[in-house]
Amino acid sequence: METTYKLLDGKKISGEIKQEIAAVVNELLEKGGRRPHLAGVLVGHDGGSETYMASKVKACEEVGFTSSLIRYEDDVTEEELLACVHRLNQDPTVDGFIVQLPLPKHIDEQKIIEAVDPRKDVDGFHPVNVGHLAIGAPGLRPCTPAGCIRMLDYAGIPIEGARAVIIGRSNIVGKPMAMLLLERHATVTVCHSRTKNLAEVAREADILVAAVGRPHFVTADMVKEGATVIDVGINRIAPKTLVGDVDFDAVSEVAGAITPVPGGVGLLTVAMLMENVVQAAKMQRG
Ligand code: NDP
Repeated sequence: METTYKLLDGKKISGEIKQEIAAVVNELLEKGGRRPHLAGVLVGHDGGSETYMASKVKACEEVGFTSSLIRYEDDVTEEELLACVHRLNQDPTVDGFIVQLPLPKHIDEQKIIEAVDPRKDVDGFHPVNVGHLAIGAPGLRPCTPAGCIRMLDYAGIPIEGARAVIIGRSNIVGKPMAMLLLERHATVTVCHSRTKNLAEVAREADILVAAVGRPHFVTADMVKEGATVIDVGINRIAPKTLVGDVDFDAVSEVAGAITPVPGGVGLLTVAMLMENVVQAAKMQRG
């Protein structure tokens, strides 16, 4: 059947962004600078975390960054992890670093996040960067919502004045997504597990962002004809099968534009991380 929707192709968009970053790295090297350096801290052997970290390391190679990976077993103590964060904060050869989440239950994630030097916080999770985002000051922005905005811009989808509905209010996706859309003058509604008449609210959206973590949560009856649907969800429903939060086949019949999973927002997240590393390097090197 012929499709009428516009596919927001994460591979194409992230590829172009990575090419631009590679050009920036070359410029830096020509001026006698050193390659930006991203370090990653990975605890344990969770399949999802391993995959995400591997894709970040690969992206570093593609754009010409130096990358280093520090691994700990599941039984690492909070003290050991905090000491690692302090070492990375002080290492002048590291421009930015990430501690892959989730962490084992015996470690206080927020404590780790708050120990990161905000200038090296390329995930954009530190309260200083969250605060900067909230007041509209410059800072490192969280990669996934920043990637969603970049996708909308790339596709020429107007944000100013649009009705945006986000399903999900997590600190890493839903809330910063709301702030970024507000910054761009959308009228924003954030839904969550206590929202009443969620389908009705979702149907008002010109831009609908799903960050729920439930396979096929957004069905066609929740989407206004012609709306843009951004699917942040990554759900593993079988060992080798990933699906989003949106029932893609049915929703693409109604949506004006839609992101696929895989091949959508996830790739933009990694590209935005690379951009944050360049920004962090520039901020620290002056
Ligand atoms: P969280 O589990 O932290 O948050 C999920 C949100 O969805 C919560 O706010 C929750 O509401 C809401 N929710 C859950 N069930 C319902 C329901 N039945 N009705 C309405 N709202 C509901 O998830 P994350 O934000 O961390 O991640 C969301 C998804 O995005 C996951 O699939 C994750 O894997 C994916 N992800 C993808 C990334 C990418 O790069 N593409 C990056 C990060 C995440 P409440 O607050 O009330 O509990």
